[in-house]
Amino acid sequence: MDTFEYRGKTLFCENVKVGDIVSEVGTPAYVYSKGAILARYHELKTAFQDVDTLICFSVKSNSNLSICKLLAEEGSGFDVVSGGELFRAIKAGGDPSKVVFAGVGKTDREMRYALEKDIFMFNVESLAELKHINAIAKEVGKVPRVALRINPDIDAKTHAKTTTGKKENKFGIDFTEAERIITQSAFYQNVDLCGLHVHLGSPIYTVDPYVRALRKIVRFVKNCREGGLDIEFVNIGGGYCISYTGEKVIRPKDYAGKILPLVKEMQCNLILEPGRFVVGNSGILVTRVIYTKETVHGKKFVICDAGMNDLIRPALYDAFHRIWPVNTSIKMPKVENTGKSPVKRGMDVVDIVGPVCESSDVFAANRSLPRVKEGDLLTIFSAGAYGFSMSSSYNSRPRPCEVLVEGDRYHVIRKRETYENLVSGENFTW
Ligand SMILES: *Cc1c(COP(=O)(O)O)cnc(C)c1O
Repeated sequence: MDTFEYRGKTLFCENVKVGDIVSEVGTPAYVYSKGAILARYHELKTAFQDVDTLICFSVKSNSNLSICKLLAEEGSGFDVVSGGELFRAIKAGGDPSKVVFAGVGKTDREMRYALEKDIFMFNVESLAELKHINAIAKEVGKVPRVALRINPDIDAKTHAKTTTGKKENKFGIDFTEAERIITQSAFYQNVDLCGLHVHLGSPIYTVDPYVRALRKIVRFVKNCREGGLDIEFVNIGGGYCISYTGEKVIRPKDYAGKILPLVKEMQCNLILEPGRFVVGNSGILVTRVIYTKETVHGKKFVICDAGMNDLIRPALYDAFHRIWPVNTSIKMPKVENTGKSPVKRGMDVVDIVGPVCESSDVFAANRSLPRVKEGDLLTIFSAGAYGFSMSSSYNSRPRPCEVLVEGDRYHVIRKRETYENLVSGENFTW
């Protein structure tokens, strides 16, 4: 779990006791490790260093300004999917000339904003969008780089709600239409059509889907060049996996080993859009047990102060997160058994739930957990990606604070919301 480790009976993040952090900032709280974020970024960068690669951190995975700033300072670019994310990337010190902009529904206003900032590239997802970007670019007198986002019809074997590269998904343009667009590229004088983009889904636990998509791309690039259109940039998106259970998973060098030969064959520059890989296991959500209860049917619940509004992945994607007490004398297993948990001494099989008024507000069902009582702290691991960034204030719950740990120090990088924050912007003047 990278820089989150138990020393004796208590969990540390880098050199700080997690318990000490939350005794000051309260719960629920997101806690991130600066060291882990930078290590993952550099692991990826090193794995792909054999070709000219631009790494664009996926802002939607964790949009906190301080986290984006850390990565900007390392030279990272940014993958944004809205005007708001572009605003964040720039505010964090990101270089607009390293920003790529994806998304099926960019509005004219968002396009104008991105053009004004001279971003690196637009990843265009439909013919209609291409027409808009061409027209707006003409109006403002610019010729932006454009990549066509290809939908290669490849099953990345992710959860149905996180797969994006199958023909029934809303994302991208199929090869037939892409070819038509390219043969008619003379109609689009105000864009520089110089890239192809794919993003297959997430998380992807084998290299195979990337290889299959790239093989199709290699053929397509060849055709484009024969037709007189040079493709200089190939963007293979994100989706690089992390371990949610402690099991061994493939690493960037495993992806690079199979992907780089194909990129070299095309002689293209490479763009990567990692999100989860950089921040997923670099963050945890710490929560406090409010109550425990046992029904007459023998079902045990641990009710904690974080809910689905703070971390929606289990409710939305049936995602698995390891959960373990912050302070415990029972060792967390090296690899979590995701099947039916065995009952061991000092442990209970419980449902770990939040306080939100929805039956789907469950972080873990039938999970073996060291016995806990009111007031105990729990860690929900692997919460650095799609955690806070997907949070809401549903049930009028102020969103948690975010904390960044740096060696033996820590900083609150986003304050806990207050009740006043919840209603700011509302008024009675109607
Ligand atoms: C979400 C997204 C990513 C990041 O995916 P991860 O699984 O977090 O690496 C990259 N590119 C695009 C276009 C995305 O929508």
